[in-house]
Amino acid sequence: MKSKIWLSKPHIGEKEFEYVRETFLSNWIAPLGPNVDSFEYELQKITTSKGVAVLVSGTSAIHLALILLGVKAGDVVFCQSITFSASANPIAYQGAIPVFIDSESDTWNMDPALLRTALKEAKQNGKLPKAIIPVHLYGMPAKMDEILSIANEYGVPVIEDAAEALGSSIDNIPCGSFGEFGVLSFNGNKIITTSGGGALLSENAEMIEKARFLATQARDSAPHYQHSHIGYNYRMSNVLAGIGRGQLEVLNDRVEARRNNFERYKKYFSKHNNAGLVIKFQEAPSGYYSNRWLTCILVNPALNNGLTREIIRLALEEENIESRPLWKPMHQQPIFVDCKSYLNGVSDKLFEDGLCLPSGSNLTDEEFDRIFESLDVIFEKYQNR
Ligand SMILES: *Cc1c(COP(=O)(O)O)cnc(C)c1O
Repeated sequence: MKSKIWLSKPHIGEKEFEYVRETFLSNWIAPLGPNVDSFEYELQKITTSKGVAVLVSGTSAIHLALILLGVKAGDVVFCQSITFSASANPIAYQGAIPVFIDSESDTWNMDPALLRTALKEAKQNGKLPKAIIPVHLYGMPAKMDEILSIANEYGVPVIEDAAEALGSSIDNIPCGSFGEFGVLSFNGNKIITTSGGGALLSENAEMIEKARFLATQARDSAPHYQHSHIGYNYRMSNVLAGIGRGQLEVLNDRVEARRNNFERYKKYFSKHNNAGLVIKFQEAPSGYYSNRWLTCILVNPALNNGLTREIIRLALEEENIESRPLWKPMHQQPIFVDCKSYLNGVSDKLFEDGLCLPSGSNLTDEEFDRIFESLDVIFEKYQNR
């Protein structure tokens, strides 16, 4: 059996080990300590946020953002439909009701026109959402200008799910710093990782102080344990923050490597596109800078002599190469099918035609050769001969 080529595998170096070693030597194994402080400080610098709290996950960051925005049982929250379920699950944790918004076909993210329709209707019905959650899918920034201006018109705060988009930007403004809150993830498959972890970002430093308070069991200041709020155990450990510090030092290299992967795929597919296939990518509008966390392709069978993304996925699997369909939209998920949604067909088509290709920052030339050789076999069958 050939060795497995993963979709996106962790990429860890020596610096991470050094910072973690320090935690052992200094006995800072607690969920707070110097690595947590430094990691937060460094994240604040690169995202230009006023406050950052590092947490156990991106999911917990979204949950705290909803709590801090006062989202309660029965409230409505708008969420991008095509995304990982972690964008939507915290809405349910609060007993609130998600309403899903479809995407536009440029960035594959929340469609500002549909958002406007949904907000207009919500206002007419006298029940505006308490928050809006757009996502920067696969690292490509959503159309934040338009989304923010519509949200502002209706006075609804935005939680920006930048879990996949650390290192991405619009006109040099980093993703994560557009909304009332920004959310990052350092899960094992993300562009940088702490094995598991996340961060909550805000322009409002006081809100981040509150997030830290809630994330450490909401302890009142008293010599004994006293609580006037429901708290959570959501703080990142000092050991994991050590990994994060080391990873952050190489973020630029990681972004460059992922962007190079994208260029390499693009060049490869142009060869087959010239031979009659029509393989499409997530294209960046002008001023949009994607970290290209994952390179994804769209394979419309009607334009490709019947070739589907599933034929490609299964053929790669035969060669022990991992690829994956795009996120299945939330409005199609068994757990959310009964929720209200505003649809235009874009995310359904993305799910039908879309495939994420191996995109790790540590992919080798040999691995790329294997991927391209496997793809050649399929494409040569379907392209015009
Ligand atoms: C990974 C991810 C999250 C959740 O992050 P975790 O750290 O895994 O909890 C949220 N939203 C999106 C879009 C993600 O890709």
